[in-house]
Amino acid sequence: MSTILQTERTTVRRLPKRGLYDRETIHAIIDEALICHVGFVVEGAPVVIPTIHTRVGETLYFHGSAASRMLRSLRGGVEACVTVTLLDGLVLARSAFHHSMNYRSAVVFGTAREVTDADEKLRALAALVEHVAAGRSVDARPPNEKELRQTLVLALPIEEASAKVRTGGPVDDEEDYDLPIWAGVLPLRLVPQSPLPDERLRAGIPVPGYVDQYARK
Ligand SMILES: Cc1cc2nc3c(=O)[nH]c(=O)nc-3n(C[C@H](O)[C@H](O)[C@H](O)COP(=O)(O)OP(=O)(O)OC[C@H]3O[C@@H](n4cnc5c(N)ncnc54)[C@H](O)[C@@H]3O)c2cc1C
Repeated sequence: MSTILQTERTTVRRLPKRGLYDRETIHAIIDEALICHVGFVVEGAPVVIPTIHTRVGETLYFHGSAASRMLRSLRGGVEACVTVTLLDGLVLARSAFHHSMNYRSAVVFGTAREVTDADEKLRALAALVEHVAAGRSVDARPPNEKELRQTLVLALPIEEASAKVRTGGPVDDEEDYDLPIWAGVLPLRLVPQSPLPDERLRAGIPVPGYVDQYARK
């Protein structure tokens, strides 16, 4: 198991036993989550923006319009704090106080760079498509020159990061276990519904397997 750099600001303080610093755990959370939230400071005030991400090795990639304030700020060297959250269940305790959630989350700190290398940019954009639907990048038309010019891609090294994971049932106060109150976990997961074909879909095109049997890794 390979451990990531643990720094003062990535050290989990509340319930530190839930803090994890191994790359496998951090990577698995980043890979399973469809989106992340990118926090940064603009003109002295915090902003947190939801966005799609993908991971290639030890790098997180983001993309968007070249006009995006988030991407323009980060390209300019503004530090980012990226959070990724997976919700696994509601933990219903006997006392209101001990209610909780089962989750897997990761926080990554760092400074992004703009991806200017043409090959890396194409690979990152394909990886973003793959992140959303594994197998899709082979089917989708690749970006053309104009689309590439309009798209900014940023890379953030996953060097300073932490994970925090809660599993298991409620932990009530000893004197509350006899209370006549239901307690336990309501597991939650992301479940795809039936695909809705585009109204302009050409006749005779079957639903691809990666859509029909969609699942997060
Ligand atoms: C699931 C999801 C995935 C997304 N993926 C991407 C992506 O991959 N790339 C990308 O560029 N953008 C993505 N977006 C959109 C992204 O959140 C921003 O809206 C986008 O980057 C626009 O930036 P901007 O520079 O116009 O906004 P800004 O100028 O940064 O925003 C100005 C203000 O608009 C409001 N605002 C901006 N975005 C949102 C929002 N999402 N929800 C509510 N209020 C908002 C806020 O008040 C903000 O302060 C995604 C959004 C969601 C919800």
